[in-house]
Amino acid sequence: MKNIKQENGQELKPLRTSKEWKLLYYQHGRPGLEEGKKFKGLCNYCDLQSLCGLPKPESGLWRCEHYRAKVWEKSSLHEYVLKLLAKAQGVNNFDRDICKIIAETMNEIVVHFPVKMDDDHIKVLTGYRVQHNNALGPFKGGLRFHPMVDIDEIRALATMMTWKTAIVNIPFGGAKGGIQIDPADFSPKELERITRRFTFALGNNIGPDYDIPAPDVNTNPKIMAWIQDTYMSTIPPDERNRSIHVVTGKPIESGGSVGREKATGQGVVFCIEKWAQDHGFDLKGATYIVQGYGNVGSWAARLMKMNGSRLIAVEDVTGAIRNKEGIDPDDLAQYVKEHGGVVDYPKAQAVDHEVFFNTKADIFIPAALENAITRDTAELLNVKLVAEGANGPTDEEGDKVLQRKKIDVIPDILCNSGGVIVSYFEWLQNKRSEFWELDEVDAKLKKIIVRAYEKVRDAAQKHRVDWRTAAQIVALYRLEMVYKERGVFP
Ligand code: NAD
Repeated sequence: MKNIKQENGQELKPLRTSKEWKLLYYQHGRPGLEEGKKFKGLCNYCDLQSLCGLPKPESGLWRCEHYRAKVWEKSSLHEYVLKLLAKAQGVNNFDRDICKIIAETMNEIVVHFPVKMDDDHIKVLTGYRVQHNNALGPFKGGLRFHPMVDIDEIRALATMMTWKTAIVNIPFGGAKGGIQIDPADFSPKELERITRRFTFALGNNIGPDYDIPAPDVNTNPKIMAWIQDTYMSTIPPDERNRSIHVVTGKPIESGGSVGREKATGQGVVFCIEKWAQDHGFDLKGATYIVQGYGNVGSWAARLMKMNGSRLIAVEDVTGAIRNKEGIDPDDLAQYVKEHGGVVDYPKAQAVDHEVFFNTKADIFIPAALENAITRDTAELLNVKLVAEGANGPTDEEGDKVLQRKKIDVIPDILCNSGGVIVSYFEWLQNKRSEFWELDEVDAKLKKIIVRAYEKVRDAAQKHRVDWRTAAQIVALYRLEMVYKERGVFP
């Protein structure tokens, strides 16, 4: 990796390269992290040529740190998802015509919408909502705000949502959406206007019994509350109170469910506990590493602590840290809240990407973005189990390496289904005007996810296939049954 020389003679050092993410990061000095909390890993505005221009004040937001990210070619996640579908179809000889239907997305909505920035200029942004399938119930899936969001990614993630809801047997279909932005480039007021304008642009394409968004990467309960309010403000008054479940993952006061915030991480941990039980493996004293320390990663890490396991390395978009004696997950979560990332966490050593992946541990929880585990990083991994908190964290080549190395995998569509399961509970509570206690939510979540785990495990044994294929088979089985029972109109 070469340094990049700027016009002023200063050189930018490559901070971290990652073939897998097809990203190239450059760091421009490190002035005063402590001076401001607007620290952010990626700059996605200008291309490499304008590197020397330093942060373009597009939004009036001051950034103390300037990284560059250049997107090279991005491999197609959707193509990979279709390959997984074809593989499962072949193993169990599923009906080809039905597989043809579910290989396609039903609706793909792309909206371009104007938003007024704080300095009064207008930005036109692009948002997506892909509705993959609603044979089992209303479309359901998260919304992400990320600079690398594109139609291919959203198509793939929407398709995976259909498999996920089918595996855990809840009455939802699959959808996903997002806006191609980096939220760190916008003020809170701008983010609110972006969210509201996007919701308005989607109009009746979402709805409490039709398509129900939820939080995903860089979106949170606050953003869900803005969507809810905008939706409810633009429908007839007599329908408003019947529509609070237009989104899930809302703040509790706005109709959210207790236990939803931690639900995905909790589901990951329930799956790990079941795996440990099946393998006679003691989680007390076991070590784990986590990639991504946002909602899913930080909750999974904190809940693993309750089993007496030891967190020894973490990577997020700002860098990677390691401490073989153990990192306190709660303390790190507080640090990330205050500083925006794990970089410079004082109670661990900074390590690079490769060292992070090569850390010997019992369990790896990828909880960032897709394509983190590739051929190269899978070769580095030195763990017994990969519990996929993220969606699509393992690419095709990476998967082959994990299988060759006999590393167990709890696949994403099972492992991270806790979020959509508790979203379903939230939706039910809203529809019935009920409020469930946390122990009730957790017990119901555990029951559903463990049952799904057992189904996938049994399918893997029955068909002698890897767990990813087995999870697809379980999902396809349910979808095929429904299509066969109902037939195809007319
Ligand atoms: P988040 O925005 O809360 O956190 C994302 C984390 O990933 C951050 O810590 C960020 O720093 C890290 N990250 C981003 N780019 C990275 C990179 N290049 N290298 C290393 N780390 C990087 O998002 P989240 O809600 O926790 O979602 C994480 C994953 O889990 C996504 O794949 C999402 O689709 C999946 N997921 C989320 C939910 C949910 O309920 N939030 C449910 C199911 C699946």
